[in-house]
Amino acid sequence: MPELPEVETIARALRPALVGRPISGLRVSGMPLRLRRPIPARALERAVAGARVVAVTRRAKYLLLELSSQFVVLVHLGMSGRLTLAPASVPPSRHTHVVFALDRDEELRFVDPRRFGLVAVYPREQLDLSPELRGLGADPLDPAFTPEALLQALQATHGCSIKAFLLNQRRVAGVGNIYACEALFLAGIHPQASADRLSPARARKLHRGLKRTLTRAVSYRGTTFRDYRDPLGESGENQYQLQVYMREGERCKRCGRTLRRLVQQARSTFYCPGCQRV
Ligand SMILES: [Zn+2]
Repeated sequence: MPELPEVETIARALRPALVGRPISGLRVSGMPLRLRRPIPARALERAVAGARVVAVTRRAKYLLLELSSQFVVLVHLGMSGRLTLAPASVPPSRHTHVVFALDRDEELRFVDPRRFGLVAVYPREQLDLSPELRGLGADPLDPAFTPEALLQALQATHGCSIKAFLLNQRRVAGVGNIYACEALFLAGIHPQASADRLSPARARKLHRGLKRTLTRAVSYRGTTFRDYRDPLGESGENQYQLQVYMREGERCKRCGRTLRRLVQQARSTFYCPGCQRV
């Protein structure tokens, strides 16, 4: 499932390819996406009519196409969604749900076989109040995400584990299972440690661990286990950098102990019993 580094990689790839270009048309499959929500075809048509792309940005796991019409198209890739650039002459794959026609006979396509993704559109001034973005926590790559801000967010919780804290998008936005496991390993914090009992020194380590694991993943253009591809169809390479995620039973590269897996909130957590303390 794409997390912050994968969406950031997509935004960086699409930015030079899309900014300044006009959108000349729109096609939708008519199939519902996440939560059986229909694609808002009419609102999208109104937003793209005569518009150009003025910016491609990211908020947490959402990709934003900002348009000259003062509308913003918001895309969440769900489990298996992809945004691809393709020549209009190449037939779209079966699971293509939204097509933005561009100039020079090119198309931006939203492909989503499992249909857990989301495409929405909002007037720019209403974007922050949208149900998707309202209430999101700080983005770890945003300058506003300081060690003090993290410590404050930690202390506002009651009795939740640090792993659950990291996965809660209202606390820290953009982090999913892979990078939560990796950041906790880098910080030396056991995934079952209580979020509200973390000392300021350990919160600083976690802050550094989050920044480091996410920045590194962006530099390797995301993690590909199965579905994730960038807009040109390339896999990421961060899967070769992971220290604990999906490495249960292997040796820790730092201390040599056997890496373990436990289940929290019905999801696997990977950790090192030697390096990570409660
Ligand atoms: Zn270790």
